Amino acid sequence: MSHSVRKPHGVIVTNDPETGESQADTLCCAHCGRHWIVQRGSGRARGFCTNCMGPTCGNRECETACEHREKRLDRLERERRAAIEEQARRAESMGGILLG
Ligand SMILES: [Zn+2]
Ligand SMILES: [Zn+2]
Repeated sequence: MSHSVRKPHGVIVTNDPETGESQADTLCCAHCGRHWIVQRGSGRARGFCTNCMGPTCGNRECETACEHREKRLDRLERERRAAIEEQARRAESMGGILLG
């Protein structure tokens, strides 16, 4: 196996036939959880949230508002449940109207 990509914690190791083995650091956005490979000189503007003490991916949403990815998942889950309950309520009241 001359070509291999191993993926240990936060580092990608690639075996390139031309340049040999190289390592690339990966970072994970503190807000949306997106992973990316750190490329020096790639020109991509990434941020850092001092509140979460973690890097941010550079997306506008992630740069303008601080919401840690775990909180965000919680919120999405709550919103999903609220939407389902709301639908159920509506279905019930509609049923009430139809039956009434
Ligand atoms: Zn992000
Ligand atoms: Zn943050």
